[in-house]
Amino acid sequence: MAGRARRSATLDDLDVAVSDCFACPRLVAWREEVAATKRASFRDQEYWGRPVPGYGAGDARLAILGLAPAAHGGNRTGRIFTGDRSGDVLFAALHRAGLANQPTSVSRDDGLALRDTRIFAAVRCAPPDNKPTPGERDTCAPWLHREVELVKPTLRVVVALGAFAWAAWWPAMAAVYGVRPPVPRPAFGHGARWSGADVPALIGCYHVSQQNTFTGRLTPAMLDDVFAAAKHLAGLA
Ligand code: SF4
Repeated sequence: MAGRARRSATLDDLDVAVSDCFACPRLVAWREEVAATKRASFRDQEYWGRPVPGYGAGDARLAILGLAPAAHGGNRTGRIFTGDRSGDVLFAALHRAGLANQPTSVSRDDGLALRDTRIFAAVRCAPPDNKPTPGERDTCAPWLHREVELVKPTLRVVVALGAFAWAAWWPAMAAVYGVRPPVPRPAFGHGARWSGADVPALIGCYHVSQQNTFTGRLTPAMLDDVFAAAKHLAGLA
């Protein structure tokens, strides 16, 4: 699997290769079970039921790193953060920031295009309870690392959505940039920042989960502040 990730010469190659990954038995079983049983409101739809590739610009200056696809969002539509409430909040914010051509993301053929931005997840298959195991995270890491490597020429800033993504960035940075992560690791927090020489800046942002957005822990204004800072660090504003 790691070999297939490394051999992917382009993002298109990587997207195809990751979509055909079966390396984690528990996640393969779960993504397929969800796709077969479906949520009642989507029962007429064909679920994707496979790993969900990254999405967005190949020359991205700004990357958004998430946790993993949602069972009835990305795992249903086949596009990251597409077709669920988390995506509604995220893409509305990206549109306000001028990084997306539309504020919604509902299906793979909805016309969405991102500017200067790529979105990917630390784990590419939907996990039960949104909780991958450490072993699954490590097994999936080569896909993330290769994707970061492929956008490395332009990448300037990474927005980590939540503590899981924040933690996943350090091994990615070490693998792709050959830079040893700081010890101790900087703690995740909303608005937390870290920057080092010759690596993208890192910004922490609360995850756009319903748990955070419904409770007001993460507001649209807070997201706007994060993306304004990210654009500034990426040289986009
Ligand atoms: S989580 Fe990653 S490594 Fe595991 S099966 Fe899915 S794509 Fe493959």
